[in-house]
Amino acid sequence: MDVPADAPPACPVCDHDYDSVSAHRSGVMVNLLDNERYRRVCFEPRPGGELWFFHHTHEQAGTD
Ligand SMILES: [Zn+2]
Repeated sequence: MDVPADAPPACPVCDHDYDSVSAHRSGVMVNLLDNERYRRVCFEPRPGGELWFFHHTHEQAGTD
């Protein structure tokens, strides 16, 4: 997955490490209920209208 060059070292929303960042400009569906790799996705609005998704694994989310 793409990580933008100016992505921060930690998630700006929850301050945890993340596995990847994806940038979106249109609608997207997120369903992590049965996702074995990722536990949480945080959303950060960016200047210019992009929405960055920070993907956290179960380990990074710290909920196990
Ligand atoms: Zn986060």
